[in-house]
Amino acid sequence: MTEEKEIYDVVIIGGGVCGTALLYSLSHYTNVGKIALIEKNAAVALVNSKQTSNSQTLHFGDIETNYSLEKAKKVNRAATMVKNYLLKHDPAQEIYTQYHKMVLGVGAAEAVFLSDRYESFKTLFPALKLIHQEEIAALEPNVIKGRSPDEETLALSTPDGYAVDYQKLSQSFVDKATQATDKSIELMMNTRVTAIEPGAGSYLVKTNGKTILAKTVAVTSGAHSLLFAKELGYGKEYALLSAAGSFYFAPALLNGKVYMVQMAKLPFAAIHGDPEVHDASQTRFGPTAKVLPMLERHRYGTVYEYFKTAGLSLAAFRSFFAILSELTILRYLILNFIYDIPVFGKFFFIHQVRKIVPMIKLSELKFAAGYGGIRPQIVNLNSRKLEMGEAKILGKNILFNITPSPGASTCLKTAEDDTQRLIDFLGGDYWFNQERFEQDLA
Ligand SMILES: Cc1cc2nc3c(=O)[nH]c(=O)nc-3n(C[C@H](O)[C@H](O)[C@H](O)COP(=O)(O)OP(=O)(O)OC[C@H]3O[C@@H](n4cnc5c(N)ncnc54)[C@H](O)[C@@H]3O)c2cc1C
Repeated sequence: MTEEKEIYDVVIIGGGVCGTALLYSLSHYTNVGKIALIEKNAAVALVNSKQTSNSQTLHFGDIETNYSLEKAKKVNRAATMVKNYLLKHDPAQEIYTQYHKMVLGVGAAEAVFLSDRYESFKTLFPALKLIHQEEIAALEPNVIKGRSPDEETLALSTPDGYAVDYQKLSQSFVDKATQATDKSIELMMNTRVTAIEPGAGSYLVKTNGKTILAKTVAVTSGAHSLLFAKELGYGKEYALLSAAGSFYFAPALLNGKVYMVQMAKLPFAAIHGDPEVHDASQTRFGPTAKVLPMLERHRYGTVYEYFKTAGLSLAAFRSFFAILSELTILRYLILNFIYDIPVFGKFFFIHQVRKIVPMIKLSELKFAAGYGGIRPQIVNLNSRKLEMGEAKILGKNILFNITPSPGASTCLKTAEDDTQRLIDFLGGDYWFNQERFEQDLA
């Protein structure tokens, strides 16, 4: 049945970690009175923010060698907000676990690279240390076991590492938001948005149930955000390269997160190993990066939607061709395709894992079936290049977020920025107490 109800100030479409963080921000730091969160699944965070879908890392930029200092400054600021939220609201550590972490350099070239990086990053990250074989062995014996003492091995290491269950974090945002008694917050679960249509001074948000009216809309639907944007005539210059990431399990081999130095030219982070957020007896290695024409992992119905986001246009074809004609990327993507092949894949993947744990046995490695989501990487059809990181598309009283990694780490900063934008859209007497937001979280 379709009915039009009274008007919402803000409608958020998509209840992953970004949509729920925005709900939290609006409920605690603004006078926005009437908000709806619409989620097609029965609960929040069952797509990329699900615990089994992502690498459960709070990225600060200290050991991610694919980040420049500039990017690390931004990510550090954003991730610190999540850290502060967790320290304040999760004293029992049900959402996160603190582990040490390091990025490992093997061989002369990587050793020089990490030493140089240490010099430029140590001011931003005072807890970061440059450590050598003996100190690495004390923290991570299995990383050193089996290596020649003559092989130059060093690491940038810090005790300040967090594994986060972003699914539980999303639920925590919702729980806190619905405690705000001065608001009317409607959680519409099992509700799929089928269309967003501009009306007279508002948007009609059509769902598989009712149609509701919204003064402003925040589309935080992951890869689906681009589909909605295009349907409204926005984001025409973008397409998506969907990079599915899978994982392998091993027994307890690592005590903290161990990253490798990023290979030049590759758009995705190198694989890493770390203990499961709630179960240190399992080590997870990954993620791989397999290009799939889908918007959501394991949901084959999204193949058609993927092509609707310009996957089949001539401009998209030219852009994909330009990206894939870079041999390093093509080789990497083919290898990653192989890693995901049942039984056979691990014979290849183990070579990557042995760069971290040299003595791991093939029998210890097990494909994590059903794990891993999809990173919707933005392809710019004008520049024909991959754009790393999140994309935001702004329309008239509507915004769209497309959030590959590290979108979960930056969810509160994105929420802060979007809260301000929505308040600007609403105008009039609406306010955002950004100072208090910053005091509490930054
Ligand atoms: C393999 C992998 C590893 C990653 N590792 C990390 C990491 O270690 N650290 C990090 O910070 N980030 C990581 N990321 C990225 C991170 O998972 C995402 O950036 C983050 O989860 C995105 O959150 P979101 O809320 O934008 O999207 P999602 O969590 O995907 O939520 C979108 C929501 O929108 C809903 N939705 C979609 N369409 C509709 C509709 N029509 N109607 C109603 N609801 C709809 C979906 O059901 C879903 O719940 C990783 C991602 C992958 C795939």
